[in-house]
Amino acid sequence: MTARVGVLALQGDTREHLAALTEAGAQAVTVRRRAELDSVDALVIPGGESTAMSKLLREFELLEPLRARLADGMPAYGSCAGMILLATEIADAGVPGREALPLGAIDMTVRRNAFGRQVDSFEGDIAFDGLEGSVHAVFIRAPWVERVGPGVEVLARAAGHPVAVRQGRTLATAFHPEMTGDRRVHRLFVDSL
Ligand code: GLN
Repeated sequence: MTARVGVLALQGDTREHLAALTEAGAQAVTVRRRAELDSVDALVIPGGESTAMSKLLREFELLEPLRARLADGMPAYGSCAGMILLATEIADAGVPGREALPLGAIDMTVRRNAFGRQVDSFEGDIAFDGLEGSVHAVFIRAPWVERVGPGVEVLARAAGHPVAVRQGRTLATAFHPEMTGDRRVHRLFVDSL
């Protein structure tokens, strides 16, 4: 059966993920409301700005329902800002009251804008566990992972830091596969559903 995969559509590069998921064989739909969240088998949280997305999650009354679905085992994939939000702990989360809010789906600490302190954006070919050859990774004010719990697999690294991780069927990348034509990361996620 074709999995129905939502893309959180409050802010960020929703459209690119919808296209990538469709090409990867999923039924891709936008999620902005509670009923839409309830209707999906899995969710993608796009790249964008994790503090802005957190604010909108609150305003749209999706924060607690989303935390509950993730706690209940709904698979998710987050790129960049999405990776930040999927963490249990966020370092450099932002100004108190307007900070990025962790959804707690992957047992890890993610540092916001970690690479950005050195260089805002960069691209490179990196090895990715389970995928042949290399993956062209686009990093834009990207986070890196500072700590992973025992149940978390590190699938890729850049500059010595984990930049792709998986816990169960929940996946996160600090880079943006949705921005390249390579659908292998989305397919990895969709095929696991
Ligand atoms: N720096 C952004 C944040 O903190 C993430 C950047 C991105 O998604 N490209 O959310």
